[in-house]
Amino acid sequence: MSEQTTATDKATQESLISIHRWTDKLLTFRTTRSADYRFTPGQFARLGLLINGEMVWRAYSITSAEAEDQLEYYAIVVPGGLFTSALNQLQPGDPVWVEKLSYGFMTPDRFADGEDFWMLATGTGLGPYISILQQREVWQQFRHLILVHCVRHEEELTYQEKFETLRAEAAAQNLPAQLQLIRMTTRDDGAAQPDRLQGRITSALREGRLERAAGLAITTASSRLMVCGNPDMITEVREILKERGLGPCRRAGGGQFITEDYW
Ligand SMILES: Cc1cc2nc3c(=O)[nH]c(=O)nc-3n(C[C@H](O)[C@H](O)[C@H](O)COP(=O)(O)OP(=O)(O)OC[C@H]3O[C@@H](n4cnc5c(N)ncnc54)[C@H](O)[C@@H]3O)c2cc1C
Repeated sequence: MSEQTTATDKATQESLISIHRWTDKLLTFRTTRSADYRFTPGQFARLGLLINGEMVWRAYSITSAEAEDQLEYYAIVVPGGLFTSALNQLQPGDPVWVEKLSYGFMTPDRFADGEDFWMLATGTGLGPYISILQQREVWQQFRHLILVHCVRHEEELTYQEKFETLRAEAAAQNLPAQLQLIRMTTRDDGAAQPDRLQGRITSALREGRLERAAGLAITTASSRLMVCGNPDMITEVREILKERGLGPCRRAGGGQFITEDYW
């Protein structure tokens, strides 16, 4: 997504509030939010930066809660990437344009039924789930919430405290769903840690390791899945799920999974 357009009536000019750096490549940033901006958790915004005199637009999943008066995003700085190199240099107060419309179909309300909600992410594909899990309804809609985050190195397993806090808050409010966090690393050896799996989401899914870790079977009747991040991972997960009788959600209804490619 790299159209060069000008910021017009399609977007509002917001400003950067803060950048939190998790690693030298991973950052969470916050912008001001226009009072009439609307989104549903799971959707993405199209953000614009003025780079060398031209507007450059990129899609970013919104990680903040629906009711917050700021917008938050979780980003990787792509080496040599036009947008993210500029993003990495921003200072609080700098302008960021936000398209007035929000986009995307990764919203849990598209699942009419199902008991177990699996959220699979590589890298910053975690983004939509951070917002979704701050939505009370999702803790009432499902019995089990299973968040699988796969990264290369352990230090990229971000937002862990946030998820622990959400889990504790849900328990304190007697919300019915249980949240399980399954963290995966492809490069670091996670063997010493019981909640850590080694390898890729795709191999763990094929080998049944994800289901064993969660103590839940993936079935057409009970499972609903979202898959977000690396397009190769998503293509393979779609194949695996189809082999097992699950299908993509359609506008007309039905289906068990929704996917979003980040590039
Ligand atoms: C619907 C949608 C939602 C998105 N949400 C997010 C988000 O929440 N956070 C985020 O970091 N990115 C997200 N992206 C990707 C983002 O829009 C940009 O592609 C990314 O910031 C790179 O822009 P760039 O100009 O710096 O690099 P470009 O010059 O456009 O380089 C693109 C290349 O960088 C790599 N790349 C792009 N995005 C990623 C990524 N997220 N992780 C690893 N490698 C990547 C790919 O190899 C891709 O070919 C999303 C993309 C889409 C389509």
